[in-house]
Amino acid sequence: MSNVGKKIFVNKTAASRYILLALLSFGWLTVSSQSNTIKHRGCATGTVMEKYFQQHPQEKIAFEKRQQDFQKKYELLRKQKQGIPAEQRVNAVVTIPVVVHILMEDPSQVTDAQVQSQLDVLNADYAGLNADSVNIPAAFKARFGKSELRFCLAQRTPGNAPTTGIERFSTVTKSYPGEGDPVKYSSMGGVDAWNVNKYLNIWVCEMEDDNDLGYTFMPGLGIAAGERGFVNSYRAFGTIGTARAPFNKGRTATHEIGHFFNLAHIWGANSCTASCTDSDNVDDTPNQSTCFFDTPLYPQTDACTSTAPGVMFMTYMDYVDDAAMCLFTVGQTDRMASAMNSFSELTPLLSSNGCVPPLLYNNDVEAQQLISPNNIILNCATTFTPQLLIRNIGSTTLTVVNINTSVDGQTPAVKTIALSLPSLQTTTISGDAITVSAGYHSIKVYTTQPNGASDQFVANDTATNIFSVTGTATAPVSEGFESSFPPQGWGISNTSDVKEYNPVKATNTAHSGGASVKFDNYHYQLFGKSSILNSPQVTIPITADSVKVTFWHAAAQASSSSRDTLVVEYSTDCGQTFLTGYKKGGNDLKTKTD
Ligand SMILES: [Zn+2]
Repeated sequence: MSNVGKKIFVNKTAASRYILLALLSFGWLTVSSQSNTIKHRGCATGTVMEKYFQQHPQEKIAFEKRQQDFQKKYELLRKQKQGIPAEQRVNAVVTIPVVVHILMEDPSQVTDAQVQSQLDVLNADYAGLNADSVNIPAAFKARFGKSELRFCLAQRTPGNAPTTGIERFSTVTKSYPGEGDPVKYSSMGGVDAWNVNKYLNIWVCEMEDDNDLGYTFMPGLGIAAGERGFVNSYRAFGTIGTARAPFNKGRTATHEIGHFFNLAHIWGANSCTASCTDSDNVDDTPNQSTCFFDTPLYPQTDACTSTAPGVMFMTYMDYVDDAAMCLFTVGQTDRMASAMNSFSELTPLLSSNGCVPPLLYNNDVEAQQLISPNNIILNCATTFTPQLLIRNIGSTTLTVVNINTSVDGQTPAVKTIALSLPSLQTTTISGDAITVSAGYHSIKVYTTQPNGASDQFVANDTATNIFSVTGTATAPVSEGFESSFPPQGWGISNTSDVKEYNPVKATNTAHSGGASVKFDNYHYQLFGKSSILNSPQVTIPITADSVKVTFWHAAAQASSSSRDTLVVEYSTDCGQTFLTGYKKGGNDLKTKTD
């Protein structure tokens, strides 16, 4: 947490006539270095479940009760199906809509083709059509299961717009496995889940511990709905691109989805502890003491299964390398089907329409993003050109559209744009330049009259934002932030997409009077992003020989690993470039205990 109060006092300089000050607060967490090799499979699902139960002992009791109820249903199903060979079963195929959120500094590294390679693996593995099923030992062939689960990339968004089911987001936020994982929250530099009742959410990202390949939560837990789905390391996703051997055959997702549908690790619910008393609660997997890594030679026996054919280390639910795993058993696929029909957080997926593309209107323009002004501060300028990223989600080519710009709720300026935008394509359109006064402004930019007709779906036509225009002042300038915020002529913004991360006025901390400015890196853990406060452009007497800036601050660290940094910069060229006058972070910045 960085709770900072400050006042700015500028008197004089001879070097230039104007000076502009910016105070930035960076949210930063210690960065661990990435090694290039992953030694062996690490799945954090067991660890996050244990951590969750430690923090919520009552939930452990509830979870175990739900699992006992489930086990009864599952065993009943197994009894009913007993004696029916896998190849004679008739299963209704269930296709689960998947949305892949790619979160990396450069998310384009994970291409659409790489995502598709992962979907192909999932559909082969779950259907039992994987080519390497020839490697299933003869003694286990009769147990080879073919699940009815299939997967599609989502074809419609929660708002019923067409989509590829792939979303990319540039961020330095990593996955910290467990509850409150920042990759699952936009307020922490991650991406919020799509409606978990309609989609299986996959967050593809960097892991805080680069030996973790992924994790999920098993069903029956009281976790926040928005945390359902699973996290998959970008280094172990799909079969091409950023996927690295020996985890480049897409089996991390196969494994995690097994957990998502209530499969435990084959050796039981612990972190590779040798034991024959715990079980995966599946009747056709041999009892196994602990996990196997790498590429074991068949057969392997252990203390729990001491005779041939030994243990089933080649199941997707062990820890062997991608190339060494090749099957779910019939018991495992039955367990996933039971879970699908039993757990209230999974059953809604059965009736999702996420795999079905939405019907398109003839004329429908979607305002995707306000490119300019986008949460910025205009320094020494009072004119800007509105720019809007649009997508034609009508079925016909878009040849003409109006862009409307309204600042602070005023009558909109309208410009008619001629273009040629095919269905489902995007482009950026610009309005006429607009002049605004110094201060804090809201802006609304929206489209009308696509192809000269009424837009048939107006709910997606509008983009809004806020921005500041800095004013001018004459030295000396003093500001206590006691009245309206931001003060007249001051600017606020931040470098993330979260508007709420802007600096705010605090009334519980002050040097004098009753107010200060607060940079909230505690509730918005946007690693690598900064929150910005700009002073007005200050006129300095030409005879002055120096400039003095004074401020007071208070700060605390959220934890000893927090590295929040406060920087004071100044500019003599209207904010084109800034020089650093003050910079402190972490332990050096804090004025009270964590
Ligand atoms: Zn696992």
